[in-house]
Amino acid sequence: MKKLAEVLRDWEAVIGLEVHTELTTLETKMFCNCRLSHDDPPNTNVCPVCLGMPGALPVPNERAIESIVMAGLATNCQIMRHSMFYRKHYFYPDMAKNFQTTQGPVAFCMHGHLDLEVSGPGAGERPDGTVEKGGDGSYVAPIRILRIHMEEDAAKMVHVGGEEGRITAATESLIDYNRCGTPLIELVTEPDLRTPEEARLFMEKLRQTFLTLGISDCSLESGSMRCDGNVSLRRRGSTEFGTKTEMKNINSFKSLHDALEYEICRQAEVLEEGGIVYQETRHWEPSRKRTVVMRVKETADDYRLFPDPDLAPFDLTDEFVERCRSRIPELPDAKRDRYMADYGLKRADAAQLAGDPSVASFFEEALEGADAKVVPTVANVMVNLVPSVGELTVAQVRGIAVLLAEDAVTFAQAREVAGAISGTGEDPAAYVDAHGMRQSTDEGALGAIVDEVLGRCTDQVQQYRDGNKKVLGFLVGQCMKAAKGSGNPKAFNKMLAERLEG
Ligand code: ADP
Ligand code: MG
Ligand code: ZN
Repeated sequence: MKKLAEVLRDWEAVIGLEVHTELTTLETKMFCNCRLSHDDPPNTNVCPVCLGMPGALPVPNERAIESIVMAGLATNCQIMRHSMFYRKHYFYPDMAKNFQTTQGPVAFCMHGHLDLEVSGPGAGERPDGTVEKGGDGSYVAPIRILRIHMEEDAAKMVHVGGEEGRITAATESLIDYNRCGTPLIELVTEPDLRTPEEARLFMEKLRQTFLTLGISDCSLESGSMRCDGNVSLRRRGSTEFGTKTEMKNINSFKSLHDALEYEICRQAEVLEEGGIVYQETRHWEPSRKRTVVMRVKETADDYRLFPDPDLAPFDLTDEFVERCRSRIPELPDAKRDRYMADYGLKRADAAQLAGDPSVASFFEEALEGADAKVVPTVANVMVNLVPSVGELTVAQVRGIAVLLAEDAVTFAQAREVAGAISGTGEDPAAYVDAHGMRQSTDEGALGAIVDEVLGRCTDQVQQYRDGNKKVLGFLVGQCMKAAKGSGNPKAFNKMLAERLEG
């Protein structure tokens, strides 16, 4: 198969995502009072409603409606004042009542958008006019959201035995209804995404947004956030859509990217050989890095969708919507802009800190009581050290930033200190002193070393004066050596340059 970059020269990929998010932070299920917990022993959080007993009546969870309205407001959707629940029929033991309660043509949230910032290599091209290109090849892609509707999750099934990955007569199927009836919101994008990277970024941004709203733990790994990827190809310049395939239940950002990449290349090969892409559901196999057919697509008619007579239509009041709006905390984009304006952070660093609410609150806590000039260093430590060393406390991060800001340690030493004190609660300054790592910036003490080095390295001094500024690095090295590592390289650099230029 051809590589993605080569394929995308001739073909344009058209991608739409369907993202399911369980509202895991709620106490109870969507239509009954059962406890919302997937960790309890199987089939302990169940009742006649979520087990689908005849005659049991559903009562909607108001908290879940608040959550979906918040999700809609945060993604620039129109909040539909009038909507209702429908029954979507199918037969499978994961939903004992034989239909899923979901929404019809009008969802609580319609017609929103999220703006993606795409940058760096692999950004790809968006030849359509909707894109503002930055000078560095980065661009902003507005991705339209068709709808976000409310529905309920099905039970969890586990298949044991039989052949690997296939259900046979020897398979035993176990079922846990604890998950059945979990409030679930499904977000459907318009087919506006153009590369696997854009799809990955969209999922990340959505996850950050929902995490910030506090409506879900958004774990792709445990399945509380899952995504189906739809993709088709068309010749560059064509405005008609090709036939799409759909990949189900992708459970990591990498899988989403890789599955789309594979599928784009596969479709290109089929089309270039004169074949046809069939509208089908495919399954991504991460271990083999390929997609395989799961089933051909069912049509909407098969579901016998009709309004649920057990659930009254909704008429949301302005007051209700405004209450939801007032609960929305500062969203990642606004936070990023604030970090840039207030702390002078670089856009990429600000975005990284603002994206994850737990990282953002850690950062803000680390700034409490810190000197203004330490702020960029705290950000630097957060972005470049914390992810690699894990368990640092807020006080430790602040302490490391202070050492760096005072030039008491180099960045390499800061990394070493961070690694050593991670998980111990030890004070970084105390550690540095105990291990003789503190570097001097004392002009008097370092000045003697600088003079000694300049006195003996006459060749390099001459080279520098002849315009070869690169020898400065050598001279700094000589000073460091003479100081046995206890002198600060930045201070040496500055003092050497001053003396050589002077
Ligand atoms: P289906 O009825 O097969 O579920 P929908 O119209 O509901 O299809 O769309 C499902 C998802 O597929 C949406 O995210 C939509 O943007 C996307 N989609 C629709 N048509 C195409 C296409 N031709 N190529 C790629 N994605 C598409
Ligand atoms: Mg669909
Ligand atoms: Zn129940």
